Amino acid sequence: MVEQLQYQINLDKNVNEKRSLIHLFTGMLCKECKKQYKSEEPSASSVLVKNIQKCCSKKEDYIHSGLPLKQATYRALLSKGNRPATARQISDVLTDRWGESVYTRSMTPAVISRLLETSVDYEISVK
Ligand SMILES: [Zn+2]
Repeated sequence: MVEQLQYQINLDKNVNEKRSLIHLFTGMLCKECKKQYKSEEPSASSVLVKNIQKCCSKKEDYIHSGLPLKQATYRALLSKGNRPATARQISDVLTDRWGESVYTRSMTPAVISRLLETSVDYEISVK
């Protein structure tokens, strides 16, 4: 059943060496964290994920309305600390963030699972 599948970002170091997840994650930091991050050594991706979960994902513009669905989906996973999540759970996060906006129609669980399964550049693993 598609509904049962869980998605998670693959944080495995070997996989990510080429993909530069660190770069992607730092782009999701809020203004305050970005400032702080610049003055420090690059952190492991797992450290960044924790940071995003605890701070940046709680900021209002973390999942803003202009964000492409693919990126929003990714951010939704990070806001939950990259715990494995079903397409339904991700859809709920986005509905919660975006409300009844123009996107509502396009963020059904079916659309999200298709999106994640075709996101080769985003290192999503399916369970
Ligand atoms: Zn932050």
